Amino acid sequence: MPTTSPEARYWEKCDGNVSCRLCPWHCNIKPGATGLCRVRYNDEGVLRALTYGRVTAVNLDPIEKKPIFHFYPGRLILSIGSWGCNLRCSFCQNWEISQQEAPTKELMPVAAAELAAQLESQGNLGIAYTYNEPFIWFEYVYDTGKLIHERGLKNVLVTNGIVEVEPLEELLPLVDAMNVDIKSMDDDFYRRMAQGVGMAARRTVEIAWGRTHVEITNLVIPGENDSDEDFRRLAEWAAGISRKLPVHISRYFPNYRCQIPPTPLETLERARRILAEKLDFVYVGNVVSVEGENTRCPRCGALAVRRRGYHAEILSLAEGGRCASCGEELGIVR
Ligand code: SF4
Repeated sequence: MPTTSPEARYWEKCDGNVSCRLCPWHCNIKPGATGLCRVRYNDEGVLRALTYGRVTAVNLDPIEKKPIFHFYPGRLILSIGSWGCNLRCSFCQNWEISQQEAPTKELMPVAAAELAAQLESQGNLGIAYTYNEPFIWFEYVYDTGKLIHERGLKNVLVTNGIVEVEPLEELLPLVDAMNVDIKSMDDDFYRRMAQGVGMAARRTVEIAWGRTHVEITNLVIPGENDSDEDFRRLAEWAAGISRKLPVHISRYFPNYRCQIPPTPLETLERARRILAEKLDFVYVGNVVSVEGENTRCPRCGALAVRRRGYHAEILSLAEGGRCASCGEELGIVR
């Protein structure tokens, strides 16, 4: 497969092969082969980024859809993704683009940044790198992210968080907000269901917190990561970072290779209750819910942001993202 794709970052030569150092898999890639993510290719001893400038989806989405609730609520963001992933989740909800090569069109960084700037008049915040795993798109996200910042716009990542520390540190100054998928606190779950290492996802959150806006999502799969103990461990770890770290409990639906029935609503409510003992902002998503997606002040109970579907209405928010009723810090950037 001769390629004109640009040379990738974070790799080294290794016994005639190349070793990719972008994520903790450290794939040892033979000439003519790709790494586990399928998008980093050994082209006669040079690692190339196959998906640079190639997108599978371009949409102007509400930022609530990422989901990100405490960063410019109610605004839109140009959302782009490519294909490939460095995990193999049997329950993947986006498997058509993450687990197989999907049709792409070209959107080079300059064109992406120009499109984002043109859409500002429609309320666009910047670019969200989403749909498939953005860290394996590192070179493109980095180049586009720089152009987005030059235009005064924002970069948002929706990620599984599985990345090495050095590339994370390099990208962080360009990232304004991120949602990190914490699938479980149990590394065995990552090994069984996702063929991956959960520690790296948690490490990404711990490093990024305080340096960019961070929220996390936990997809709840019946019988796999839905025990009281699972939720308690997640709550304790998240509260150890900050009780103001927003957590999205997400309803699972059967997809790809996982045919377990959808998460019962009672399970989501149990998760919300257990997490809310330690955390101020717990949201229930992927389900129609009257109260589960609103932001209430944890001190006085005032309704700060009301959400219906992906529509958000700011009701009681003062300067600095504080509750307009009592002044409590809600950690909402706007
Ligand atoms: S980014 Fe891809 S090729 Fe590189 S180590 Fe991770 S899975 Fe392997």
